[in-house]
Amino acid sequence: MISNGDISTDEIQRRCDEKKINIRHYGDGTYGVSLDETVIGSDLIDLLYVFGANEEEAASVLYSVSDADSNVSITGSGHERETPYLTHPVFNSYHSETKLLRYMKELENRDLSLCHSMIPLGSCTMKLNPTSALLPVSLPQFNTIHPYVPSNQTTGYQSLIDELESHLCSITGYDKFSFQPNSGAQGEYAGLCAILAYLRDKGEGQRDICLIPASAHGTNPASAIMAGLKVVEIPMNKEGEVTKDSFKQKIEEAGDKLATIMVTYPSTSGVFEDSIREVCDMVHYYGGQVYVDGANLNAQVGLCRPGDYGGDVSHLNLHKTFCIPHGGGGPGMGPIGVKAHLAPYLPGHPVTGPNPLKSFGTVSSAAWGSASIIPVSWAYILMMGSKGLKKASEIAIVNANYMAARLKGHYNILFRGTNGFNAHEFILDTRCFKNTSGIEAIDIAKRMQDYGFHAPTVSWPVSNTLMIEPTESEGKAELDRYCDALISIRQEISEVEEGKYDVKNNVLKNAPHPMYLVTASNWPFPYSREKAAFPADWLNPYNKVWTGSARANDVHGDRNLVATHNQELKPLR
Ligand SMILES: *Cc1c(COP(=O)(O)O)cnc(C)c1O
Repeated sequence: MISNGDISTDEIQRRCDEKKINIRHYGDGTYGVSLDETVIGSDLIDLLYVFGANEEEAASVLYSVSDADSNVSITGSGHERETPYLTHPVFNSYHSETKLLRYMKELENRDLSLCHSMIPLGSCTMKLNPTSALLPVSLPQFNTIHPYVPSNQTTGYQSLIDELESHLCSITGYDKFSFQPNSGAQGEYAGLCAILAYLRDKGEGQRDICLIPASAHGTNPASAIMAGLKVVEIPMNKEGEVTKDSFKQKIEEAGDKLATIMVTYPSTSGVFEDSIREVCDMVHYYGGQVYVDGANLNAQVGLCRPGDYGGDVSHLNLHKTFCIPHGGGGPGMGPIGVKAHLAPYLPGHPVTGPNPLKSFGTVSSAAWGSASIIPVSWAYILMMGSKGLKKASEIAIVNANYMAARLKGHYNILFRGTNGFNAHEFILDTRCFKNTSGIEAIDIAKRMQDYGFHAPTVSWPVSNTLMIEPTESEGKAELDRYCDALISIRQEISEVEEGKYDVKNNVLKNAPHPMYLVTASNWPFPYSREKAAFPADWLNPYNKVWTGSARANDVHGDRNLVATHNQELKPLR
């Protein structure tokens, strides 16, 4: 920090504006300045001018400093680093642009993406992220703005965010949004904190129980515990369902300790539970608040609204429903929508605001979260329009039900709504195969790689099952190809059930089959190379995506950040 001399704070601000420089004013006559490697001499002259030097003085100060600088050396200063750094070959092997280019392309080639085939990960909504909606992210007008710049420099951003807020309010039936949370989980935490602040304000601080169905996403209980709530699980019955009666029982038991319930709709089992309104009413009757996990909004946009059927607060995953790319830890946006009574308790921000009247506090370092990706969702909503958005939800639901109908004769579909349909996703019950053939969900998932596909979501929300969410982005031919692969795999399971192949040594247990295994001179398996690598006629050498490795040790991989090829990916036998 630099202490302010005789120049007034108003004059400093005027000079900052004149030179288009933003510095941080702490309000008490002290300033914070941060510089990075892009700052050049002329910027420093401007900065000295801002703090009262005239430009000539500033220039001479700068040159005397840089003259002095040339005599300063780090050698022998005692600050030299003595330990080696960046020793991994990846930091020392790519010195020409062609080499770096090839390295990056090689990494890309190992990836199976939407460029190759559908990725129907249940609950993840891996829909198309249209290029036209992504383009604004690379515009400097969006991506070079510091989150703390004075608000008169962000009027464009502000109107974009306000417009998105009003669209999201119409889509969800909520009255107000906070864009501060950077992920669904952070939104859950923020929403629960707002609920708790509201309850305390009402003099009901004793309410500390959060009811969560056993099938909930793992982030739900984690967020509730971080917010200081006591989590009470609503158990599943034998069929793996969370019934209205078990909700009722737990709500009554909690009584005046009930703070909130976290529900997902349509449920994580991929069903529009017809008791949702009743459950929400019951929670309100007992004085609790309803948190609706909005991750499944892709089944609802244009069709139904959490704010109408009883939600008090929800997070939306803009990186699922509203087209922000995700996976691999990319930035997310988990804004929360609330009914009017919770709006005064939404997150605030000490530097920039907005500061709702009774804000519970702050959850993220930037007031509008990952603001630079907000244009993606804004553009998507505007390009789709209200009719388009509704149609997308309908097609997402029809696609899931079409696949479920094609697979029905081959696999059990776990959970269907009362009228026999699913929402936008469904669960294949693969638990029965363990007894008949030793095959588990993970074996089917690995075998899907030999067919050139990404596996569905494995073992969630029910262990040893597969959950499929095709989204609206896929056409019938691709849905059929995916179904054909699963049906063909069902055939392969039958071959094990019939004793044609050993329960431990078959095309599923040994999957996936990478090229180095298939082309090795030694082929120790009881089935042909063709069956291993080209099990379907649409797979030809030109478009087959080969996996880079044979079956990896998943447990080892989950427990070790870095698992190397040598330790983990030895060819089988
Ligand atoms: C994805 C998801 C979340 C969490 O969202 P993140 O952005 O990954 O933190 C919560 N609940 C459900 C049902 C989800 O599918």
